[in-house]
Amino acid sequence: MSTISPDVLREKAIAVRQHAYVPYSHFPVGAALLSRDGQIFTGCNVENASYPLSLCAERAAVASAVSSGVRQFDAIFIVGEKSLAMPCGGCRQVLSEFGDLHVYVSYGDGQETKHFWLHELLPESFQLNPSSLE
Ligand SMILES: [Zn+2]
Repeated sequence: MSTISPDVLREKAIAVRQHAYVPYSHFPVGAALLSRDGQIFTGCNVENASYPLSLCAERAAVASAVSSGVRQFDAIFIVGEKSLAMPCGGCRQVLSEFGDLHVYVSYGDGQETKHFWLHELLPESFQLNPSSLE
């Protein structure tokens, strides 16, 4: 378990939010993902003219971490701009691939921060049992 506080994650999420590419929704989101070994990976949402191809901030952060060889996480802080940015169903599933973690959600400069466990946001999540593939 890392000793990095949620406050540090919040500031990283706010900082990366400014890079969000959101010409369609105007709903910038930043995410800071804390690995078990204390590294922080950030991501922002990246929209596309073909809407379904848009990427959420949470999944951008996960992709950054996994691309660096990191797959164990303690927490993620997700911050919207003018309202809470709860993780979408797809991001909840993607995060659950790597186990349970703290999920902090906020907006603005950190208003109304809420805390959840991922398992509370996605109970009974889909998990593929590799042994069932044999
Ligand atoms: Zn999402």
